[in-house]
Amino acid sequence: MSEPLFGRVALLGIGLIGSSLAHVLRRDKLTREIAVHTRRAETLETARKLGLGDHYTLDPAEAVRGADLVVVCVPHSAYAEIAAKIAPALAAGTIVTDVGSVKGAAVRDLQPALPPGVHLVPGHPVAGTEHSGPAAGFAEMFDGRWCILTPLPETDPAALDRVTRMWRSAGMRVVTMDPAHHDMVLAITSHLPHLIAYTIVGTATDLEETLKSEVIKFSAGGFRDFTRIAASDPVMWRDVFLNNRDAVLEMLQRFTEDLTALQRAIRWGEGDKLEELFRRTRAIRRSIIEANQA
Ligand code: NAP
Repeated sequence: MSEPLFGRVALLGIGLIGSSLAHVLRRDKLTREIAVHTRRAETLETARKLGLGDHYTLDPAEAVRGADLVVVCVPHSAYAEIAAKIAPALAAGTIVTDVGSVKGAAVRDLQPALPPGVHLVPGHPVAGTEHSGPAAGFAEMFDGRWCILTPLPETDPAALDRVTRMWRSAGMRVVTMDPAHHDMVLAITSHLPHLIAYTIVGTATDLEETLKSEVIKFSAGGFRDFTRIAASDPVMWRDVFLNNRDAVLEMLQRFTEDLTALQRAIRWGEGDKLEELFRRTRAIRRSIIEANQA
């Protein structure tokens, strides 16, 4: 039998992403042992009941001791604190990666704390659901999706290779990108759509009582799809917007200009302009389906 990819993997955070990865590590026998750390005793107990790891601890430093891979799976606002706590327990040669949605912020908050000889490989598995917590995870969540790794110029190629192999085993297609480029791309493909969904659902909620019940009743008209996105984890998304501020503001500016142009077209009855845009966007939907990303 071939050697597993890792001896000990420490999962810091065992919510949707951490638990899904735990299932993959087990299924594919990628590690001899899994150490699970989370902030609250209640979450740790749930993870234990689900059998997601071999060791369970509320102390992140204890989790990373002896680990050859550390995966940070917490919201961005917890990164700097967790990095400071684990730093003294990290041995040279350890790989530290993460799953966070904003890569510039991941590098900013993790890199300065890491001791020399520890390899940082920032990563973002672009997969998820609107559910949170350790019971929400499942191994197949990553299947056929993209994983974006954003190595730094000094990142050890061997460390990058091992993290790549882990995500490939999860069924992901792995690409590398510059952190700033990642944050721009995700601002338009993920962050702005979430912001729009939160806005629409918020606007509807603010309408008076009678209309609200009609909103639920006729939600299949389009609104329902937004409510799924707007049910995503509030803390995670707060952190995404606070940590990808510049890229989101840039995309929001462009979006606002385009929205104003549409508003004008509607006001002046310019049906050809509307139809032309809707034809272009329909073609985009078709190409997403053809790329198996629907
Ligand atoms: P989740 O299900 O809400 O789980 C979050 C985990 O982080 C829990 O173990 C939680 O611990 C812990 N945590 C929360 N706040 C913390 C704090 N202040 N200090 C220490 N630990 C804390 O979240 P998730 O969906 O797995 O997201 C985790 C990361 O993955 C985020 O950075 C997010 O950007 C990224 N991501 C998410 C998705 C998605 O669709 N959800 C997709 C790709 C990437 P307790 O429960 O013990 O408090």
